[in-house]
Amino acid sequence: MRVIFHGTRGSIAVPGQNTLRYGGNTACVEMHSAAGTLIVLDSGTGAFGLGRSLMDPSARPGMTRRGHLLITHTHWDHIQGVPFFAPLFAPDWEWDLYAPRGLVGSLKETLSGQMQSSYFPIAIDQLGATIRYHELVEGAFDIEDVHVRTQYLNHTALTLGYRLEVDGSALVYACDHEPFSRQLAEGEGPIVGSDLRHASFLADADLVVHDAQYTPDEYFKRVGWGHSTPQYAAHLCLAAGARRLALTHHDPNRGDAEVDAIVEKLRSEVASRPDGGDIEIFGAAEGQALELVGEAPGRPRHADTFSAVASVGPALVGHSVVLGLSDDAECAELAEAIRADGVKVTAVADTDAVLRTCRAGPASLVVLDEHLGDMGAVQTCRTLRREGILDGDVPIIVTTSRHETAETRTAGVTEWLERPFSTIYARARIRSWLLRQACRWLRAPLSLEEDVRIAALRSLDLLDTPPEERFDQITRRAAALFDVPIALVSLIDEDRQWIKSSYGLSEIRSTSREVSFCAHVVAQRAPMIVPDTLLDDRFAENPMVTGGPRIRFYAGFPLILPEGACVGSLCLIDNRPRQLDKAGARLLRDLGEKVGEELCARAATSPPRKRAKRSRDATG
Ligand SMILES: [Zn+2]
Ligand SMILES: [Zn+2]
Repeated sequence: MRVIFHGTRGSIAVPGQNTLRYGGNTACVEMHSAAGTLIVLDSGTGAFGLGRSLMDPSARPGMTRRGHLLITHTHWDHIQGVPFFAPLFAPDWEWDLYAPRGLVGSLKETLSGQMQSSYFPIAIDQLGATIRYHELVEGAFDIEDVHVRTQYLNHTALTLGYRLEVDGSALVYACDHEPFSRQLAEGEGPIVGSDLRHASFLADADLVVHDAQYTPDEYFKRVGWGHSTPQYAAHLCLAAGARRLALTHHDPNRGDAEVDAIVEKLRSEVASRPDGGDIEIFGAAEGQALELVGEAPGRPRHADTFSAVASVGPALVGHSVVLGLSDDAECAELAEAIRADGVKVTAVADTDAVLRTCRAGPASLVVLDEHLGDMGAVQTCRTLRREGILDGDVPIIVTTSRHETAETRTAGVTEWLERPFSTIYARARIRSWLLRQACRWLRAPLSLEEDVRIAALRSLDLLDTPPEERFDQITRRAAALFDVPIALVSLIDEDRQWIKSSYGLSEIRSTSREVSFCAHVVAQRAPMIVPDTLLDDRFAENPMVTGGPRIRFYAGFPLILPEGACVGSLCLIDNRPRQLDKAGARLLRDLGEKVGEELCARAATSPPRKRAKRSRDATG
């Protein structure tokens, strides 16, 4: 995977003596796969230079005239290069343009807005290339050989981050984004909630290109403007095990020497951290090219997990939001902004009215002021949950002026919205909470050579055999080592998950394949860690999450036979959200490899299919 920076500046282009090295052009990054797939991330003014180089056949011999432009959001610094991007005017080029479903007007309408005749001489319909427009929500899809995942970022407009996986490498582009929890801006503190979800999006990336516009001092003066600090970016990258961090979206007030100083300061801060050894940190510079070689050659090209391309119609229309804010003016302004998206809003002034409204009809989202009414939001939330007025999966958001996590779980608060916030900021958050509910449970895809896999599994002759101590001692140890209530060795059969060894879940011997978490591990042939299922759209409404055994945390290691078939997983399950650090991941791998050895030992020594005799292995 080849990555080239063409624009690294945030907000506005700043050419000049002070920005020669890091560059003055706004956001634009080019990515090529080894097979020649061209993806362009954002199209700020940096796209002008990229367009010129793409049009020069001598510079790029043999290149196909086809490209994909992924736009994070339609703020000017991310689209201003579109009207100046030469390949869009060339009749022999084909382009696919992707951006978040904008809710107000389509992508094409938004882009054509900046090309109206008052601003630009050529209308969007006069572009010469073949152009297709795609609108995205959260999810995943494939662009030729590249697997793309999208996830909402925290910005003043609905903004998507992109994760590109190809050639055994992963690149994450997360720009523009602000910490969900402000206390993380200085690069310290527990990563929970939506920040934890963001960290999962960065997990094990070979390169993270991350918004780092503000220093912590600047950030605290510009909270809610939708940008990160270098310290936050590094804190999350370290937790996520990312290998390289490119700081980008440099503030337009910053000269080269100041960016240097920021990078140096961050490097020394990270070097003094106990977890800071492995990561390479630099400031993204215009013209800089990186070759990411598949440092994880076993990294799978994921089969499609779920589609991010919005095809289900406007997801917001028909949703209903209950808004309980103490300040009438704030409430009215926010209600008006949300109603513009076709969402039904009920504004209420006290906690009794919240309970009444939620009892009267299904709400999709509840936003409550911390100090609303006599009861306060937390107590109201507790009542809503305890009395079953609202299902656990309906988000309840509580506004607060301090950061609080301890009470969250017990009271059933989904997330805190920290004050102060602007109406557009709150609206962007509300949109992403609502949109996320559109698609909250996904079945694992089948693996590529499914019949070979099934044949290999069945040749082990383990399905439907009694429990065996050699496996049970591993799940027992895993549960103790990781302090989880449940550990399983699970095998993924044609249409079921069959559990060979179970600690803590003896009442279930098998489940359907479609609800199986381990089936996802088998499909991706790689370890899968889900820190909080309720925050993960692949699992939030999975019946194993909403009902027994109420999986909240899941970590699975793939069981891959020497000949290559992935037959199942060794997994850890907890009923509370948590993380698995690097040492934990290594330990899980060790145990998983031990299970793999046991699977093979059996295959090597057992005569074919004499299931009945095997009951002597049973330990009950
Ligand atoms: Zn920007
Ligand atoms: Zn922006």
